[in-house]
Amino acid sequence: MLFRPTYVFDKVGDITPQFLKKKSIKALILDLDNTLTTHNNPEVPQKSIEWIGLMKTAGIKLIIVSNNHPPRVKPFADKLDVDYECEGRKPLTFGYTRAIKRLGIDKRYVASVGDQIFTDVLGCNLKGIRSLFVFPIEPETSRPFRFKRWCERPFLPKADRIIKKEK
Ligand SMILES: [Mg+2]
Repeated sequence: MLFRPTYVFDKVGDITPQFLKKKSIKALILDLDNTLTTHNNPEVPQKSIEWIGLMKTAGIKLIIVSNNHPPRVKPFADKLDVDYECEGRKPLTFGYTRAIKRLGIDKRYVASVGDQIFTDVLGCNLKGIRSLFVFPIEPETSRPFRFKRWCERPFLPKADRIIKKEK
């Protein structure tokens, strides 16, 4: 099913190096807005800084793929010292293709983390990579976004699919 994520987490912080190792995931393509920080927020939350650090220490390769524009994405990615692709045009696959090429890893070992069914999850399924769905950090307020979220509702994963953080 094109709208079904491979794995479901409550938030990025619950994704552990142990889990990734178990699933043979060596690289992550990261969404930005409402995955690593709230929508259009230029600040990097401490929790995201720590999680990115944990992933880097574990040797997980990282790249941000965002549909947002360079002035939004570049400063954020620079703060985290993570590579990036902007104007990703998710759910189209161009952005993922460019990112996987830059990661230099076979796509079997690449998965993508994101908070939207119709961009992140659909894009992964079209590209043929695994998706790690996380619930948005906070609800968006703009009208078009609220409409998008309303359309997503029938496809949102059920609570019993949420993978808890392993201690
Ligand atoms: Mg997002």
